[in-house]
Amino acid sequence: MTHPSPKLITGLQSPIEPVHTVHHCPTCERVLSVAEFIERFCTDCKTYTKPVAVKERVA
Ligand SMILES: [Zn+2]
Repeated sequence: MTHPSPKLITGLQSPIEPVHTVHHCPTCERVLSVAEFIERFCTDCKTYTKPVAVKERVA
């Protein structure tokens, strides 16, 4: 049984983490859309929101 050799990361390159950042509304804990994040406005709460950045792992 053979395994594919993992790519070696050199010291010159920073490792690329398989994560991306999404923004949650801290009030209703819903993931905000890009427009909502830019406007800082939650359409569910119908008010100003302070987006919370959450890193999500990408498969
Ligand atoms: Zn909300």
